[in-house]
Amino acid sequence: MDFRVSPRESPCVHFSIDGGEAFRVMFSPLGKAARLLRSRKKAGSYSSFFRRGGSLGRGGQERIFPVKVGMMNSPRVNLLTEISFAQNHHFDFLDLTSEPSAAHPRKIKGKETRKALQDANLGVVGHTAYYLPFASPYESFQKTALEEIRWTLEIFAEVGASKVTIHPDRSNTFVLGSKGVLQKNIQAFAEIDEMASPYGIQVLIENMDRNFNTVEEFQEAYSKLPRLGFHLDVGHANLNVPRNRSEDFLRAFKDRLRHVHLSDNFGGREDLHLPLGAGNIDWKKIISLLKSFGYGETITLEVFSLDRRYLLFSRDKLRELWKE
Ligand SMILES: [Zn+2]
Repeated sequence: MDFRVSPRESPCVHFSIDGGEAFRVMFSPLGKAARLLRSRKKAGSYSSFFRRGGSLGRGGQERIFPVKVGMMNSPRVNLLTEISFAQNHHFDFLDLTSEPSAAHPRKIKGKETRKALQDANLGVVGHTAYYLPFASPYESFQKTALEEIRWTLEIFAEVGASKVTIHPDRSNTFVLGSKGVLQKNIQAFAEIDEMASPYGIQVLIENMDRNFNTVEEFQEAYSKLPRLGFHLDVGHANLNVPRNRSEDFLRAFKDRLRHVHLSDNFGGREDLHLPLGAGNIDWKKIISLLKSFGYGETITLEVFSLDRRYLLFSRDKLRELWKE
């Protein structure tokens, strides 16, 4: 997919309170996006790392491992601490989730974070809060959610992300019906796609556990928004379904697949984010499926436990399975 900076410049002004003390005024975000993109291009390999399908490697060495393995920061922990952890434990990139409290988009210092990631030889993928009300029956909630995304995209552009995950909103189907919720989500994705495009960021839509859990819902969105990418969450594909839907998604969207999340669960309703092998997902099958579809980009281990040895165990297991 080819991204270009839009020649259209629409001057507008953003006001926000930063740390409760400073007002920030920014004219023409598209102009700023163009500048950012130019500086990223000048910087060379770093920001285009994932689009090139290349590899940073530690110490400037090219890696031979065919996929990049990442971890997600806990948004309640200082971001720089999380970057150090990812570096010290040999991850290839950080799946930077920007959400309250510690990783709120207003709290992240873009340049400092970018430098920390570069110094740590870590790539970055953007991840937004999973609970934003994009499809709320209240228009004002949707509008506010989109404004938060505008801020978040600006930060992601500053830190050097070229792909960012958005989660469809489950919303309230009693009011809008499931079709109404689907259309409201698609309308929000269209706006986010417009906001992201000048930054050279591709928007990825993640499959969820209750809506956007079928191929058909994604097809409807993609038919209207051809630039959107697909983010496969294998754990979500195992919930509220008789069998894991990862293969169905891969068959339908292998050409759009840009990012993968892995975590285990026991099916049913609970999105447990267990280490690989602790639930009932057949990881051998999933990894060989990904390989058979020629997947070679980023995989995040979305394993959430206070004891991070479970995350590290999952990292090793993934690498072993991939080598088989
Ligand atoms: Zn996920």
